[in-house]
Formats: sequence, C-alpha cells, structure tokens
Amino acid sequence: MEIYGIKAYEDNYIWWIEEDKERILVDPGEPGPVLKALRDREDKETKILLTHSHQDHVGGVLDLKKALARVRVYGPEETAAYADEIVKEGDRIQALDREISILSCPGHTRGHLVYQLGSHLFVGDVLFMAGCGRVFTGDYRAQYQSLEKLKNLADETLVYPGHEYSLSNLVFAQELFPENQDIAEALTRVRSQRKGGEGTLPTSISQEKKINPFFLARTLEEFTDYRKLKDRS
Ligand SMILES: [Zn+2]
Repeated sequence: MEIYGIKAYEDNYIWWIEEDKERILVDPGEPGPVLKALRDREDKETKILLTHSHQDHVGGVLDLKKALARVRVYGPEETAAYADEIVKEGDRIQALDREISILSCPGHTRGHLVYQLGSHLFVGDVLFMAGCGRVFTGDYRAQYQSLEKLKNLADETLVYPGHEYSLSNLVFAQELFPENQDIAEALTRVRSQRKGGEGTLPTSISQEKKINPFFLARTLEEFTDYRKLKDRS
C-alpha cells in the first residue's frame, strides 16, 4: 500500500492511497491535480472519502465522477450533494482488502468525519500538525471532545491532515509554549523542510501530544482560549 499527498489549491492535500486493483482519494478538492497524477496510470476502482462539506475538500468530486470509470463516493450527511453513500461513526467501508472505520469528529463542521485505515488516520480539518481546525460551528466543546477522542488513539497512529499549516502553527505554538523543547525542535525541522519545498506530513498522535497546543490544553477553557488567540493571530 502506498500513500501520497497530492497538492491542491494553496495548501490543501488530497491523500491518495493505492494498491494493486484499487485506489482511495481523500477530499479531492479540485480535479486538476488528480487527473494530472492519473495520466498514464491504468484505470482502477476508485473510492473517494469525504471528511466534510467545505468546497476545498469536495470541489473535485463531480468532475472526477465524470472522468473515472468506476468510482464510489462516501461522506457524511453534509456532503449529500456529492456522496453516493452517506456514512457515520461505527460504519465500515471495505477497501484495499482492509476495513476502514469511521469516527465522528464535530466542531469544525457539524458532520465532520475521520477515516481510519489500519494505523493511518485521515483527519480532514479536525487536526493539523501543531494545530486544529477553526470552530465554524461555534461549538468549542464539540471540537475539544473530538480532539480528546483522537488523542486517545494509539500513539503510533499516523495522522494525515487536509492542509500544510505546520510552519505557521508551530510559530504560534512556540509563542504559547516558549520553553517547550519538542516544539522548538519541530519548528527547526519544519522550517528546513519548507525551505526545501518538502511536505511535513504525516504527523503522529505521539508527536502531536508533545507539540500541539490543542492537545496540550488541559481543559475546555484553555482549549477555547488558545483557539480564539489563534484565530486572531
Ligand atoms: Zn474545512
């Protein structure tokens, strides 16, 4: 099984998981980068997983459905305009001879889902390296609880967010936690990766426990304070 991050828009990633007969695309926000990457590749069965309804995550779906021969789209209720099958927490999707499990993670949007394939977790805009999604619903408690849920997953779980926000998030994290050595080291590493034009993802649950202010927040109040500070930064 191979996993690639295809760049879309300014800083989105479309995650692409592929094996012999089948591929999975997570949140294809625009069709162009996917179609370009598909050129010269054999046609395979394609499953598209949608985490939430924002345009930069679903914008490529309709064109890809037209362009690809065998494609099936899964997503939460809020993506009903795009999904062939509405899924929710507890449901399972069979793909790549494995089972994908689904977690409900509301906060960024009400219906936001996260998909787990073995030790790989596709989190859309719930969690970023050293950051988390804006709370568009205004429901800070829901977003806090969604992060607590992810924090309880196995440490070695690899996390694939929908955006390359690592550098600006780590700059903010260092302002909040100037004494934190793990944040300082991650910032140095990410700075040099970005300078060389490299991506910084995936991250992992164990790394986020050390460097993510929204994982380091001990209470809902702290979480809400950090989130509001970040929104203003
Ligand atoms: Zn979003």
